[in-house]
Amino acid sequence: METDRSTDFLIIGAGFSGLVIAERLSAAGWKCAVVDRRDHFGGNAYDRKDAAGVLIHPYGPHYFRSNSQRIVDYLSKFTEWHAVDYTIKSHTRGRYWSFPINLNTFEEFIGRPATTSEFSDWLEQNKVPISDPKNSEEVIISQVGRELYELFFEGYTLKQWKRHPRDLDASVCGRIPIRTNRDDRYLAENFQALPKHGYTALFETMLNASPGVELHLGVDFHEARTRWKHKHLIFTGAIDEFYDRRFGALPYRSLRFEHESFSAGQLREREPISGKPGFWQPAMQVNYPGTEEAFTRIVELKHATGQQIDATTIVREYPKDWTPDVEPFYPIPAPEARTAYQRYSDLAAAEPATSFIGRLATYRYYNMDQVTGMAIAEADKLISRYGTNP
Ligand code: FAD
Ligand code: UDP
Repeated sequence: METDRSTDFLIIGAGFSGLVIAERLSAAGWKCAVVDRRDHFGGNAYDRKDAAGVLIHPYGPHYFRSNSQRIVDYLSKFTEWHAVDYTIKSHTRGRYWSFPINLNTFEEFIGRPATTSEFSDWLEQNKVPISDPKNSEEVIISQVGRELYELFFEGYTLKQWKRHPRDLDASVCGRIPIRTNRDDRYLAENFQALPKHGYTALFETMLNASPGVELHLGVDFHEARTRWKHKHLIFTGAIDEFYDRRFGALPYRSLRFEHESFSAGQLREREPISGKPGFWQPAMQVNYPGTEEAFTRIVELKHATGQQIDATTIVREYPKDWTPDVEPFYPIPAPEARTAYQRYSDLAAAEPATSFIGRLATYRYYNMDQVTGMAIAEADKLISRYGTNP
């Protein structure tokens, strides 16, 4: 094993957080060695074309959105954008529903046309009065009442997290907007778009713009820390793994993805269902809150990417328990999981020459824009501590 290399910053993980902090430190004149044990960069945001030629997100759909113009401006140095109004549907009781809940959903629910004020009155009568919702059940029933909560949220959440919504932070279900108009966009953020040529292309441009960064794929943290002498370590993997799970493993939720591609001929037969030539289902994502299906959602990304291709690919997402041999896709946003994380976080706070950033190292259910912001902030801190390297 080589032991004679040296760098300024050794960065574990080539996802959003690792690559953004590497770019920032390289721009300040520092050398960075970024390693990832996977055989590609991009972390969970990595995208590629599959055997059918369809652009897919192999680790689940990644819809970029942000309320931060500063973060959008930063990423816009490395990509143009393809604007998307991410729209989805829910499928339960044998039919498609407009989702997230909006006036169209209400009309489908009552089986006749309605107005915003009628829907608002209905919500007033049905919502459960809770002034300060403490969990994911309360946050939804306090807005729409039990019936719509049970129809769209309870079953989905039980499948996704294997725990009841009342045992999850309010922010989990609370991130799904509820509207009394006909706005059916899935997300609430001001800026909603995909990188025009994909996330992998965005990261390629970022790496090309970072002369101080060298990337090493297929390298694990344990190997890297002995291979590179460094002044500061930046860790973006799971924090409990960093500490060899000395206080026990933190809880995570994982996923299994089932991909299926369809030719133009097969898609012609689906047209009565998709309502759109060249597509398998009527929207980019269809959620399945019912117990009939073991999967939570089916994603057909071609709706969002706008890729001009006859074939299509759909992905069914099956939640599964986390074990040490599978990816820890989701930290669990719940009080007792946070308490368990706190013990590791206390150890991390006492490490003067190691930074912990990103979704897994800080054990936060963070989106891509949020980890980008976190990486930029940590780079600023490190630059003010170590200075720039002329
Ligand atoms: P990651 O992308 O997880 O990157 C960490 C990297 O570190 C990985 O490549 C891993 O291989 C590497 N690594 C870990 N441990 C080690 C080790 N010991 N040695 C070497 N390498 C290591 N965000 C959105 O904004 N919009 C969405 O629509 C969205 N959808 C999502 C859907 C799913 C199914 C999931 C799981 C996440 C989704 N996210 C979404 C969140 C998004 O994936 C994260 O915010 C972002 O990718 C986190 O970047 P990161 O660099 O912190 O972590
Ligand atoms: N959720 C739900 N029903 C839905 C969609 C979402 O109950 O149809 C809940 C579920 O608990 C989910 C959370 O809201 O985990 C956040 O949904 P989102 O689609 O943002 O999840 P992600 O894309 O992060 O998996």
